[in-house]
Amino acid sequence: MSQKLSSSQLTALAQQFGTPLYVYHAEKIKEQYGKLKNAFRNRDTVFFYACKALTNINILKYIKSLGANVDCSSINEVKLALHAGFTPDRVLYTSNGISFGEIQEAKELGVIINIDSVSNLEKFGKAYGHSYPVGLRLRPNIMAGGNIKISTGHAKSKFGIPIEHISEVTAIVEQYNICVHDLHIHTGSDIKDVAVFVKGIEVLFDIIPHFKELKFIDLGGGFKVPYQEGDSETDMEALARKVEELFAAHPEASKLQVWFEPGKFLVSECGYFVTQVNVIKQTPAAKFISVDSGFNHLIRPMFYDAYHRIENISNDAPEDQTYSVVGNICETDTFAWDRKLSEVKEGDYLVFYNAGAYGFEMSSNFNSRYKPAEVLMKDGEPHLIRKRDTFEDLLKNQIEVL
Ligand SMILES: *Cc1c(COP(=O)(O)O)cnc(C)c1O
Repeated sequence: MSQKLSSSQLTALAQQFGTPLYVYHAEKIKEQYGKLKNAFRNRDTVFFYACKALTNINILKYIKSLGANVDCSSINEVKLALHAGFTPDRVLYTSNGISFGEIQEAKELGVIINIDSVSNLEKFGKAYGHSYPVGLRLRPNIMAGGNIKISTGHAKSKFGIPIEHISEVTAIVEQYNICVHDLHIHTGSDIKDVAVFVKGIEVLFDIIPHFKELKFIDLGGGFKVPYQEGDSETDMEALARKVEELFAAHPEASKLQVWFEPGKFLVSECGYFVTQVNVIKQTPAAKFISVDSGFNHLIRPMFYDAYHRIENISNDAPEDQTYSVVGNICETDTFAWDRKLSEVKEGDYLVFYNAGAYGFEMSSNFNSRYKPAEVLMKDGEPHLIRKRDTFEDLLKNQIEVL
């Protein structure tokens, strides 16, 4: 049975810890990780949690305890992962557009590095030659993903070394005798279609023969999770069978370990964002509900046109009223237009589902509002894992010179 927190549990947490509040359900993360492990049971496969989705140190520790590795997108994420207790061999730094200084730092920390530019590859070769194995992040020129803003593998994307530059890459690898041990692609986020991964694998297969010391193929993340009612997630069983089949049929690839970097798939559904209704405003155009939050706390609807299911957990009557759900900041911060909810009263709690990935992580102090608190539910017990900001936090790094 799928792991879920009930309306009464969420209401109790809102009352205990206040709102707005992010709640994460540990057992749901475990369930999602189990799906991945089980689907790929027949093939040597390693999962690196793409931690930019949610980096609370307790989440990192919990995911480590499940046995997953971790994928980082900044040197600070690398340091957080090491702080959480991951050993360097379980930490992958998939860089993009970073200074060579950060690559040196990552090398000194002993973590696995994916390089995403010819320029940094050349500097790496000059500095380290064959002494430190490295991965290459390639851009496969495949358009995929839920929104152009989250598509990373297409022909106009900044990410990765364009596949058409492969001869430049191989020349540098040869010149400095660089040990390339993995090839990486990541095409985007919200990808349901197994065929997209197949296309990526085929692109990689074409270039495997150029690299004699390969051990790993890293297929990135981007698995889809259901945001809307009736949505489905990426079919992991289908993907796993396809990967097995493709790799088995390719002699040069069959011995390579496969890596994935799931972010959203592991932590999206574990997260609930609980808000409270401040004001209801009837206008000729819409009936607005303003909650005690805004895109300062959950930016996905305004940034990516993302859909989050919303429920009034204070009223279990049928969802037969239509509202526009908005925030309280001085910007248009619409969470949902014309959404059906059960009748809402001021003071009710509204919960946003699937708020674990890129929720708190993309929050800000815009309008000088506090970032929300975070709670982890584990074994039926709530743990406060981040305090709500306080007024001192707003002034913390400011220097009053006047
Ligand atoms: C963001 C990112 C991921 C994870 O994407 P999800 O859609 O959250 O699964 C994986 N790999 C890289 C390199 C990323 O930047």
